[in-house]
Amino acid sequence: MKRNSADCISCKVYKCKKGEKDHLPSFCPMNDGSIYEEAALLLEKHREFFVNCSVIEKKGYGVWPRAREIIEFIKAMNFKRIGLAFCSGFQREAKMLSEIFKEHGIELIGVMCKTGGTDKSVAGIPEECKLKPGHFEAHCNPIAQALVLNKEETEFNIILGLCVGHDSLFMKYSEALCTTLVTKDRVTGHNPVAALYLKDSYMKSKLGL
Ligand code: SF4
Repeated sequence: MKRNSADCISCKVYKCKKGEKDHLPSFCPMNDGSIYEEAALLLEKHREFFVNCSVIEKKGYGVWPRAREIIEFIKAMNFKRIGLAFCSGFQREAKMLSEIFKEHGIELIGVMCKTGGTDKSVAGIPEECKLKPGHFEAHCNPIAQALVLNKEETEFNIILGLCVGHDSLFMKYSEALCTTLVTKDRVTGHNPVAALYLKDSYMKSKLGL
């Protein structure tokens, strides 16, 4: 029998939020209890990290901007070596963030996306896909960013404006757990949810609708 795929998007009952386990929709992932047993076992490995996430959520709820939440989380975890993987379009912001962190006694170990200084063509990117074909353009190097920070033995890494997919590769190869401060969105001033809120109006054509 074909099993139903998980579909929390279509849910109308949100039983999980109420702690109810009866009369679950057929598409509810909670119908397979083994997943939650496995998740609970894995969570044991991250207990302190996970609890501190909620401590910070409660302490700064609606008060602290995300940058401050990250700072307070780092302090709560007593992390000493913090990596910053940033996009070359965020050089200024990387400096501003570093200054704020310094005020809190936290040093950032930063590595920019263009590290390695290798032309896009070397990585198999077609010449016509460069912003200016025929010119040198360093390709982003998210795997190298992760390896640099791994070598630095960072305990926690912050992502600042990495491109779609580059962020994925960075997260895959980063040994330390990561959080995102800024999600790049060149059209919305790095506020991707704006496109969702405006999907029926100003953003409709930009979303290809
Ligand atoms: S886990 Fe189950 S109850 Fe919760 S939102 Fe998903 S489908 Fe609904």
